[in-house]
Amino acid sequence: VTSVLPSPSPSISRSHTEHRWGDTASYTGKKKLQSWFQLPNGDWEIGKIISTSGTESVISLPDGKVLKVKSESLVPANPDILDGVDDLMQLSYLNEPSVLYNLQYRYNQDMIYTKAGPVLVAINPFKEVPLYGNDYIQAYKNKSIESPHVYAITDTAIREMIRDEVNQSIIISGESGAGKTETAKIAMQYLAALGGGSGIEYEILKTNPILEAFGNAKTLRNDNSSRFGKLIEIHFSETGKISGAKIQTFLLEKSRVVQCMEGERSYHIFYQLCAGAPRTLKEKINLKSVSEYKYLGQSNCYSINGVDDAERFHVVTEALDIVHVSKEDQESVFAMLAAVLWLGNISFTVVDNENHVEPLTDEGLTTVANLIGCDVGELKLALSTRKMKAGNDNIIQKLTLSQAIDTRDALAKSIYACLFEWLVEQINKSLAVGKRRTGRSISILDIYGFESFERNSFEQFCINYANERLQQHFNRHLFKLEQEEYIQDGIDWAKVDFEDNQDCLNLFEKKPLGLLSLLDEESTFPNGTDLTFANKLKQHLHWNSCFRGDRGKAFKVCHYAGEVIYDTTGFLEKNRDLLHLDSIQLLSSCSCHLPQIFASTMLTQSAKPVVGPLYKAGGADSQKLSVATKFKGQLFQLMQRLENTSPHFIRCIKANNSQSPRSYEQGLVLQQLRCCGVLEVVRISRSGFPTRMSHQKFAKRYGFLLLESVASQDPLSVSVAILHQFNILPEMYQVGYTKLFFRTGQIGVLEDTRNRT
Ligand code: ATP
Ligand code: MG
Repeated sequence: VTSVLPSPSPSISRSHTEHRWGDTASYTGKKKLQSWFQLPNGDWEIGKIISTSGTESVISLPDGKVLKVKSESLVPANPDILDGVDDLMQLSYLNEPSVLYNLQYRYNQDMIYTKAGPVLVAINPFKEVPLYGNDYIQAYKNKSIESPHVYAITDTAIREMIRDEVNQSIIISGESGAGKTETAKIAMQYLAALGGGSGIEYEILKTNPILEAFGNAKTLRNDNSSRFGKLIEIHFSETGKISGAKIQTFLLEKSRVVQCMEGERSYHIFYQLCAGAPRTLKEKINLKSVSEYKYLGQSNCYSINGVDDAERFHVVTEALDIVHVSKEDQESVFAMLAAVLWLGNISFTVVDNENHVEPLTDEGLTTVANLIGCDVGELKLALSTRKMKAGNDNIIQKLTLSQAIDTRDALAKSIYACLFEWLVEQINKSLAVGKRRTGRSISILDIYGFESFERNSFEQFCINYANERLQQHFNRHLFKLEQEEYIQDGIDWAKVDFEDNQDCLNLFEKKPLGLLSLLDEESTFPNGTDLTFANKLKQHLHWNSCFRGDRGKAFKVCHYAGEVIYDTTGFLEKNRDLLHLDSIQLLSSCSCHLPQIFASTMLTQSAKPVVGPLYKAGGADSQKLSVATKFKGQLFQLMQRLENTSPHFIRCIKANNSQSPRSYEQGLVLQQLRCCGVLEVVRISRSGFPTRMSHQKFAKRYGFLLLESVASQDPLSVSVAILHQFNILPEMYQVGYTKLFFRTGQIGVLEDTRNRT
């Protein structure tokens, strides 16, 4: 899969630079100045302007070469002394090449963290960098290091939680492979170090290897790619100690269990189990080596460079011990994993002249029956027939080969997904805060970033919808709240536009004519197909400017991060995510306890009546929420939770697509910076008044520095006198009703003098 997000065409980059930053006009063509110009491949180079005549300028490059370029294409570069500043807000010229260069300058020296105003930008180093561990944790705790870091932002979250008594959230986003999961772990490490003591922090850290084993897989983009979203809410007691945690997961990619692309792998745990299980366990659950399993063999990839699956298996079982999953339950888990693998090996044979099939009674079939604890004959029936209701009669329909394979795969996927959910539940029980829940919490969100590939399917559709929601949250907090605060305090603030993505969210969520409603509606129609769905979209969604029809079964959505073409092939089926009642009944009749639990969760998930024969098997209602609707519900719940927290944002960036520690591809970085709004947020923060202090606090903090006494002792008069004495220019601050607002860098002089006094 290759990413097809737009590479930086010169025109796009320039318009961003000129219209958005607005600090270029007076600059163009000034002699001797350092300047950026764009190479045909889109990369930016630095040069010195030698002369300018007409519309052309001559520039000299660092290697001595001289070049003639269009003056209007030049973009100002910052003076050398600003090389590698640790907050992009400090740049004098805040254009795209300068931001790119600054990040690259730091990245080359292993300074992978940079602030962009309130946001932390983290560039994946793809190697070990000496920035972590106890010494660093202590240094950030004591504030003896100030450079940007995950530790620093986590420290702020802890302090604000205690000081303001408000729950906090750390929201981590970025593309696949950008470093979200590693960053989340680094934040957890800091929380555990500062809030540890009860021992529960150790359990919390051990949830990582478990969830990664069951929810991560090797993909073409990341050897350890999370195939689910995760929110972990870590609770603190009043004394600031960790008292428990709760994990919520989102949308596990279960299709991977039965199918994955060439060069990718299924979930790590399968390979770990096959490699690391002790002999007695292997015999008990009839486990073979990975190459014997069809589900694992289809992608021609069994191992990951530098990873020892057997060793990882031991790490996982130890972690399971620590989160109190009993040895007996662990064995049941492994039995279910083996059952999933063996399901994939079940093959079918044609039994009549209408192409109906039956499973072969071979090792696969008997092992599965044995592992889940059911009768071979019943398993055979569940995989080759379907009970249907026609009027008042129950009829039994035989399945064709493709129907039988779908049924088998659906069963494998469901067992795996249920196993995952069950594990998360066990972990949550072990970490439960219970009655100790008195204090506040810090939540860490590690969720898939915006995706745009050559072919985009239902998964991208859901992921990108989630990202629209998160983007709105981001916008709201950083831009809207910022402006609202200015306006509320009555200061003069020429409104800055920000990208509002409400239109796109409406496109997804409007009822009855939005993408999700139409998808659900079509999913319940017996005769609905991906094509009828696509046509319905084209017919009904014209009202929204973010929607465009496309050829055949495709449609386009203009997301905040760019346009994506979705191919509706498989949408309805993935959204319905059917597991026939026959399979559920089979599981509920099993003698092993896990399958029974799975069957009951599948049944209790039923909530909404859905019409159509597909959902009406066997007379009982096996109806359940569609995948998209369930996801939307989870997402709303997530947003609600986040709304009640004070957010801290980390944007992870990868500098290249080859997981390499050296290369820095400007175009790739730029596209990610744009997608996650980093450039926009710096611009807004900088053009605004990011430092603020109440009149009282300001007067109290600096009042003693006044050389002459002030007639009136009210805080505002004292504050104004201080501002005058220190010659703070009028354009550098604003006086609001309750607060003083400052542009960046203004408080510095006052603080210095205060510290010296
Ligand atoms: P996905 O969306 O696919 O889950 P991700 O954003 O969670 O991707 P990670 O799995 O966190 O990406 O990172 C990918 C790899 O990059 C890691 O396995 C690790 O090798 C490397 N990496 C990321 N962050 C760091 C870091 N701070 N230090 C060293 N290596 C890192
Ligand atoms: Mg991840």
